[in-house]
Amino acid sequence: MDELALREEIVATAIAMNARGLNRGKSGNVSARVGAGFLVTPTGLAYESMRPEDVVAMTQDGTARGSRRPSSEWRFHRDIYAGRSEVAAIVHAHSPFATTLACLGRDIPAFHYMIAVAGGSDIRCAPYATFGTQELSDHALRALEGRKACLLANHGMIAVAATLTDALALAVEVEALAEQYWRALQIGDPKLLPDTEMAIVLEKFRTYGQPR
Ligand SMILES: [Zn+2]
Repeated sequence: MDELALREEIVATAIAMNARGLNRGKSGNVSARVGAGFLVTPTGLAYESMRPEDVVAMTQDGTARGSRRPSSEWRFHRDIYAGRSEVAAIVHAHSPFATTLACLGRDIPAFHYMIAVAGGSDIRCAPYATFGTQELSDHALRALEGRKACLLANHGMIAVAATLTDALALAVEVEALAEQYWRALQIGDPKLLPDTEMAIVLEKFRTYGQPR
Protein backbone atom coordinates (compact mmCIF):
# COMPACT_ATOMS: atom_id res chain seq x y z
CA MET A 1 0.00 0.00 0.00
CA ASP A 2 1.39 3.45 -0.87
CA GLU A 3 1.79 6.16 1.75
CA LEU A 4 -1.18 8.29 0.64
CA ALA A 5 -3.54 5.29 0.79
CA LEU A 6 -2.19 4.48 4.24
CA ARG A 7 -2.73 8.08 5.39
CA GLU A 8 -6.33 7.88 4.17
CA GLU A 9 -6.82 4.60 6.00
CA ILE A 10 -5.41 6.07 9.24
CA VAL A 11 -7.91 8.97 9.08
CA ALA A 12 -10.76 6.51 8.35
CA THR A 13 -9.68 4.31 11.27
CA ALA A 14 -9.52 7.29 13.65
CA ILE A 15 -13.03 8.39 12.62
CA ALA A 16 -14.28 4.79 12.92
CA MET A 17 -12.86 4.66 16.45
CA ASN A 18 -15.23 7.42 17.53
CA ALA A 19 -18.15 6.04 15.50
CA ARG A 20 -17.74 2.65 17.19
CA GLY A 21 -17.73 4.13 20.69
CA LEU A 22 -14.03 3.62 21.42
CA ASN A 23 -13.29 7.31 21.85
CA ARG A 24 -14.90 10.66 22.35
CA GLY A 25 -13.41 13.91 21.15
CA LYS A 26 -9.68 13.93 20.43
CA SER A 27 -8.46 11.20 22.77
CA GLY A 28 -6.72 8.11 21.44
CA ASN A 29 -4.53 7.79 18.38
CA VAL A 30 -3.79 5.55 15.41
CA SER A 31 -0.58 4.63 13.59
CA ALA A 32 0.71 2.38 10.83
CA ARG A 33 4.20 1.21 9.93
CA VAL A 34 5.57 2.57 6.67
CA GLY A 35 9.06 1.80 5.38
CA ALA A 36 11.58 2.17 8.21
CA GLY A 37 9.30 4.52 10.15
CA PHE A 38 5.61 5.01 10.81
CA LEU A 39 2.65 7.34 10.31
CA VAL A 40 0.74 8.58 13.35
CA THR A 41 -2.27 10.82 13.96
CA PRO A 42 -1.40 14.41 14.94
CA THR A 43 -1.98 15.90 18.38
CA GLY A 44 -4.94 18.16 19.14
CA LEU A 45 -6.89 17.78 15.92
CA ALA A 46 -10.50 16.50 15.81
CA TYR A 47 -10.68 13.37 13.68
CA GLU A 48 -13.59 14.67 11.60
CA SER A 49 -11.50 17.58 10.36
CA MET A 50 -8.30 15.55 9.89
CA ARG A 51 -7.02 15.24 6.33
CA PRO A 52 -4.55 12.63 5.05
CA GLU A 53 -1.79 15.28 4.89
CA ASP A 54 -2.28 16.04 8.61
CA VAL A 55 -1.05 12.55 9.51
CA VAL A 56 2.55 12.83 10.75
CA ALA A 57 5.41 10.77 9.33
CA MET A 58 8.02 9.79 11.92
CA THR A 59 11.33 7.99 11.84
CA GLN A 60 12.44 5.50 14.49
CA ASP A 61 14.68 8.15 16.11
CA GLY A 62 11.57 10.25 16.86
CA THR A 63 11.97 12.84 14.12
CA ALA A 64 8.64 14.10 12.72
CA ARG A 65 8.07 15.35 9.18
CA GLY A 66 5.22 17.61 8.07
CA SER A 67 3.28 20.60 9.37
CA ARG A 68 1.62 18.90 12.37
CA ARG A 69 3.03 17.70 15.67
CA PRO A 70 2.62 13.96 16.30
CA SER A 71 0.38 12.48 18.98
CA SER A 72 1.96 12.92 22.41
CA GLU A 73 1.95 9.10 22.62
CA TRP A 74 4.28 8.60 19.64
CA ARG A 75 6.89 6.93 21.87
CA PHE A 76 4.95 3.75 22.51
CA HIS A 77 4.00 3.56 18.84
CA ARG A 78 7.69 3.81 17.89
CA ASP A 79 8.80 1.31 20.53
CA ILE A 80 6.13 -1.25 19.59
CA TYR A 81 7.21 -1.12 15.93
CA ALA A 82 10.85 -1.47 17.01
CA GLY A 83 10.16 -4.42 19.30
CA ARG A 84 7.45 -6.28 17.42
CA SER A 85 8.31 -6.98 13.78
CA GLU A 86 4.89 -8.57 13.11
CA VAL A 87 3.01 -5.39 14.10
CA ALA A 88 2.19 -2.86 11.37
CA ALA A 89 -0.79 -1.03 12.91
CA ILE A 90 -1.67 0.30 16.37
CA VAL A 91 -4.91 1.64 17.82
CA HIS A 92 -4.86 3.42 21.19
CA ALA A 93 -8.18 4.35 22.80
CA HIS A 94 -9.64 5.64 26.05
CA SER A 95 -12.67 3.41 25.56
CA PRO A 96 -15.12 3.50 28.48
CA PHE A 97 -15.09 -0.06 29.82
CA ALA A 98 -11.43 -0.90 29.19
CA THR A 99 -10.52 2.42 30.82
CA THR A 100 -12.82 1.70 33.79
CA LEU A 101 -10.95 -1.55 34.49
CA ALA A 102 -7.63 0.21 33.83
CA CYS A 103 -8.53 2.82 36.46
CA LEU A 104 -8.90 -0.05 38.93
CA GLY A 105 -5.52 -1.40 37.80
CA ARG A 106 -7.14 -4.73 36.90
CA ASP A 107 -5.97 -7.27 34.36
CA ILE A 108 -8.81 -8.95 32.43
CA PRO A 109 -8.52 -12.65 33.27
CA ALA A 110 -9.85 -15.65 31.30
CA PHE A 111 -13.49 -15.03 32.27
CA HIS A 112 -14.50 -15.71 28.61
CA TYR A 113 -12.72 -17.81 26.01
CA MET A 114 -12.60 -14.84 23.59
CA ILE A 115 -9.89 -13.32 25.79
CA ALA A 116 -7.61 -15.44 23.54
CA VAL A 117 -8.23 -12.92 20.75
CA ALA A 118 -5.54 -10.81 22.43
CA GLY A 119 -3.04 -13.66 22.15
CA GLY A 120 -2.99 -15.20 25.63
CA SER A 121 -4.99 -16.22 28.68
CA ASP A 122 -5.37 -12.68 29.98
CA ILE A 123 -5.15 -9.02 28.98
CA ARG A 124 -2.63 -7.34 31.25
CA CYS A 125 -2.90 -3.88 32.73
CA ALA A 126 0.38 -1.95 32.49
CA PRO A 127 1.31 0.09 35.59
CA TYR A 128 0.59 3.81 35.51
CA ALA A 129 3.07 6.30 34.10
CA THR A 130 2.53 9.85 32.81
CA PHE A 131 1.21 10.00 29.23
CA GLY A 132 3.83 10.51 26.56
CA THR A 133 6.74 9.30 28.70
CA GLN A 134 9.34 6.66 27.96
CA GLU A 135 8.32 5.03 31.26
CA LEU A 136 4.77 4.53 29.95
CA SER A 137 6.12 3.07 26.73
CA ASP A 138 8.35 0.64 28.67
CA HIS A 139 5.39 -0.47 30.82
CA ALA A 140 3.21 -0.92 27.72
CA LEU A 141 5.77 -3.07 25.92
CA ARG A 142 6.09 -5.35 28.95
CA ALA A 143 2.30 -5.70 29.24
CA LEU A 144 2.14 -6.54 25.51
CA GLU A 145 4.69 -9.35 25.72
CA GLY A 146 3.10 -12.35 24.00
CA ARG A 147 -0.10 -10.30 23.57
CA LYS A 148 -1.79 -8.10 20.98
CA ALA A 149 -3.57 -5.85 23.47
CA CYS A 150 -3.12 -4.39 26.93
CA LEU A 151 -4.70 -1.91 29.30
CA LEU A 152 -2.82 1.15 30.58
CA ALA A 153 -3.55 1.95 34.23
CA ASN A 154 -5.60 5.13 34.77
CA HIS A 155 -5.46 5.76 31.04
CA GLY A 156 -6.87 3.38 28.37
CA MET A 157 -5.91 0.52 26.09
CA ILE A 158 -3.66 -0.44 23.16
CA ALA A 159 -4.45 -2.94 20.37
CA VAL A 160 -1.83 -4.00 17.79
CA ALA A 161 -2.11 -6.01 14.56
CA ALA A 162 -0.67 -6.48 11.09
CA THR A 163 -3.32 -4.20 9.54
CA LEU A 164 -5.39 -1.19 10.63
CA THR A 165 -8.58 -3.18 10.01
CA ASP A 166 -7.43 -5.90 12.39
CA ALA A 167 -6.13 -3.45 15.01
CA LEU A 168 -9.48 -1.63 15.06
CA ALA A 169 -11.43 -4.91 15.20
CA LEU A 170 -9.25 -6.08 18.10
CA ALA A 171 -9.78 -2.80 19.98
CA VAL A 172 -13.56 -3.22 19.55
CA GLU A 173 -13.28 -6.82 20.80
CA VAL A 174 -11.21 -5.82 23.84
CA GLU A 175 -13.73 -3.11 24.71
CA ALA A 176 -16.59 -5.66 24.42
CA LEU A 177 -14.72 -8.08 26.70
CA ALA A 178 -14.03 -5.28 29.19
CA GLU A 179 -17.73 -4.43 29.24
CA GLN A 180 -18.73 -8.09 29.73
CA TYR A 181 -16.20 -8.53 32.53
CA TRP A 182 -17.33 -5.31 34.19
CA ARG A 183 -20.97 -6.44 33.98
CA ALA A 184 -20.15 -9.86 35.45
CA LEU A 185 -18.28 -8.18 38.32
CA GLN A 186 -21.45 -6.25 39.24
CA ILE A 187 -23.25 -9.41 40.37
CA GLY A 188 -20.54 -11.75 41.52
CA ASP A 189 -17.16 -13.39 41.00
CA PRO A 190 -16.85 -14.41 37.34
CA LYS A 191 -15.83 -18.06 36.94
CA LEU A 192 -12.46 -18.19 35.22
CA LEU A 193 -11.46 -20.74 32.61
CA PRO A 194 -8.50 -22.92 33.64
CA ASP A 195 -5.14 -22.61 31.85
CA THR A 196 -5.65 -26.04 30.29
CA GLU A 197 -8.84 -24.86 28.56
CA MET A 198 -7.28 -21.58 27.47
CA ALA A 199 -4.37 -23.55 25.96
CA ILE A 200 -6.92 -25.48 23.84
CA VAL A 201 -8.68 -22.27 22.78
CA LEU A 202 -5.39 -20.54 21.93
CA GLU A 203 -4.37 -23.52 19.80
CA LYS A 204 -7.72 -23.42 17.96
CA PHE A 205 -7.27 -19.69 17.33
CA ARG A 206 -3.82 -20.36 15.92
CA THR A 207 -5.10 -23.17 13.69
CA TYR A 208 -8.39 -21.79 12.46
CA GLY A 209 -7.91 -18.05 12.77
CA GLN A 210 -9.94 -15.79 14.96
CA PRO A 211 -13.66 -16.40 15.00
CA ARG A 212 -15.59 -13.25 14.21
ZN1 LIG B 1 -3.99 8.07 25.66
